[in-house]
Amino acid sequence: MQRIAVIPGDGIGPEVARIGVRILESFGLPLRFEWFDFGAERYLRDGTILPPGFMETLRKEFAAVYFGAVGDPRVPGNEHAKGILLAMRFELDLYINLRPCLLFDDRLTPLKGKRRADLRLTFFRENTEGLYAGIGGVFRQGTADEIAQEVEINTRRGVERICEAAFQYAGQRGLSRVCLADKANVLLFGHGLWRRVFAEVSARHPALQAKAMYVDALAMDLIRQPEAYQVIVTNNLFGDILTDLGAALTGGLGIAASGNIHPGRVSLFEPVHGSAPDIAGKGKANPLAMALSGALMLEHLGHPREAALLESAVEQQIERGARTPDLVPFLGGPAATTEQVGEELLACLSSLR
Ligand code: ATP
Repeated sequence: MQRIAVIPGDGIGPEVARIGVRILESFGLPLRFEWFDFGAERYLRDGTILPPGFMETLRKEFAAVYFGAVGDPRVPGNEHAKGILLAMRFELDLYINLRPCLLFDDRLTPLKGKRRADLRLTFFRENTEGLYAGIGGVFRQGTADEIAQEVEINTRRGVERICEAAFQYAGQRGLSRVCLADKANVLLFGHGLWRRVFAEVSARHPALQAKAMYVDALAMDLIRQPEAYQVIVTNNLFGDILTDLGAALTGGLGIAASGNIHPGRVSLFEPVHGSAPDIAGKGKANPLAMALSGALMLEHLGHPREAALLESAVEQQIERGARTPDLVPFLGGPAATTEQVGEELLACLSSLR
């Protein structure tokens, strides 16, 4: 039995997590879902962000974390969210942020003339270093002489393992192209390291085509000819930005899934979207990003057949099923609720089995 920690979190997190778990449970796999109430409500009630020892328990006893979203306007600066999500990414050393951006239906892309086969992007974003390491400071704050410094951390080990993961993924899936996005023309030291290590790792995978690009040029090219790219590996900040672009090219946040992964260890799966306070409690949240994050989790846990089945069900749902308001501009109306989409998806899954 594999134990899964479910953290629904805030806002629309619980609305989509409920559906995600219902869908995953329907496979009848040896998975046990255990719910944890960490998030703004708990934090405001008793000050708990994550209880002492929780990370250790996850590490030793759980196979994965299935995560909704955190963020609440009642918590200034969203301190609790940083303490939950960023802490898990860093302390569990979840160095791969895997974000597939696959076009499930031609109508979902704003790019003129592009079709499903043209948008099959998978991003490998480095998830534990870069500008997110929290190193820096401010000096003379609030004065005209204020100095603010944010340090970008790039370790050889960190760069090598994310590059290796990207090449391995491409090789295992029969893909042929891996692209590095950096800014080696300006950021000479850190990004010089990325270029060198990327070339070394690429030499270990001679069957795969490797190309290094400046991130600004890549951003333009992803709009012009996304079909030229398959796997893209990049640092934490560029990955943050490029994957939002990728999501916008393939239907938006309502269907963008992600994994925070350390191969062989407890890993965390979550939709790319946040807690979306503007639509929380209104039945408008699209549950498909959560469902697709569940498919990534199933794959990580060694259930690729079920993962593929779930992806097919989502694809069918998008093609001809009910849709939440976020997809109506692409697919047409009428708009359905989160629950209605979840129920239909369940039915679609059972008809595919
Ligand atoms: P964060 O900083 O946590 O990413 P955010 O407010 O920047 O939070 P989201 O919470 O993801 O970002 O919301 C961005 C926009 O996308 C909002 O207008 C929200 O309503 C919409 N959105 C996000 N997730 C969904 C979803 N699952 N279904 C429909 N709309 C969504």
